[in-house]
Amino acid sequence: MALIVKKFGGSSVANAERVFNVANIIIDDYKKGNDVVTVVSAQGDTTDDLIEKALEINPNGPSKREMDMLLSAGEQISCSLLAMAIESLGYPVVSLLGWQAGFQTNSTYSMARIKKVDPERINMELSKKNIVIVAGFQGLNKYDDITTLGRGGSDTSAVAIAATLKADRCQIYTDVDGVYTADPRLVSNAKKLKAITYNEMLELASLGAQVLNNRSVEMAKKYNVELEVLSSLERKEGTIVKEVTSMEKMLIRGVTKDDKVARISVIGLSDTPGVAFKLFNQLASKKINVDIILQSVGRNGTKDITFTVAMDNCTEAVATIEEMKTILNYSDIKSDLNVSKVSIVGAGMESHPGIASKMFEALFDKNINIQMIATSETKISVLIDAEDSERAVKAIHEKLIG
Ligand code: ASP
Ligand code: MG
Repeated sequence: MALIVKKFGGSSVANAERVFNVANIIIDDYKKGNDVVTVVSAQGDTTDDLIEKALEINPNGPSKREMDMLLSAGEQISCSLLAMAIESLGYPVVSLLGWQAGFQTNSTYSMARIKKVDPERINMELSKKNIVIVAGFQGLNKYDDITTLGRGGSDTSAVAIAATLKADRCQIYTDVDGVYTADPRLVSNAKKLKAITYNEMLELASLGAQVLNNRSVEMAKKYNVELEVLSSLERKEGTIVKEVTSMEKMLIRGVTKDDKVARISVIGLSDTPGVAFKLFNQLASKKINVDIILQSVGRNGTKDITFTVAMDNCTEAVATIEEMKTILNYSDIKSDLNVSKVSIVGAGMESHPGIASKMFEALFDKNINIQMIATSETKISVLIDAEDSERAVKAIHEKLIG
């Protein structure tokens, strides 16, 4: 007998047939005598649809508190429907909202962090031999307000439960059957990985591979929760995410693209100490994450700083810098949403020089211009025109993975 935590994404519960499919997967494990706790996301495009409804009411963007109140409803629907399906198949089940399942978060509405999961209620339900279904993506803050964990947050809900309950398995079901060396919809000969390390997965997740939410991988790494990514539609082995893997002989684990980035250039800043500090400190205080940063060599006492942010943060970032015009005393600010970040990831890269040049060669072969470059021990990223991103992923995959 084992304690199994499962998580099903929105596409896995998109309609009644899919809900019953998931119910049967859960029941199969329950029948073997296992305790099963399942986290669900909102059905299909529910979250996007709810966001649209909110913008119909207030196109300027409603408050984050009210958005959380609204968006959490998506998971309330899917968790009750899944429980009803299991109930109708004759098995004991209970659905719980985030707060009922003990999710305590901080107060950052729309991007809340889990502080603690109080396992009392879940444990009580398990001791009664109930299958437990938990609404993902949500919790309660100290004001007793509903919070949500950020887009894709249900993965994190599942990992948090697995860590708290010390589950034997944490299975993340989705509409792909594992982690691939590239998006298989884009690159037809992408290979499925048997296993991948937390660090590599983190790079892939934060670089735009939409298999796992990156906070969930961070949490899995921190609490050493081994994850299995697998398909809810086909019953076959997925990809294991864990601390170390017996490396398949592959230097590069994946090629990804992230189209949801924006480039911002601040031009004509004075070439004096403290400018970068003031600029990025102000952005940090607004909780805007900055990614690739490029500073030009100073000329005639001025310099330019160019950096990337998530597309959703672009407007706020530009406004923040405009507010600082008198402090920073720059001559111009430009932003561009038509960019894409293409990256390669692999823990083995560090000790193998020629990788970067091969990547650049692949781009050169396709006449794709590189705007910015960033490297770390496990990844190399380039910023290019958004319209080139698919071609770039294909070309780089072909050259480096084959
Ligand atoms: N339903 C939420 C979203 O679409 C959370 C999730 O799917 O994990 O972002
Ligand atoms: Mg989703």
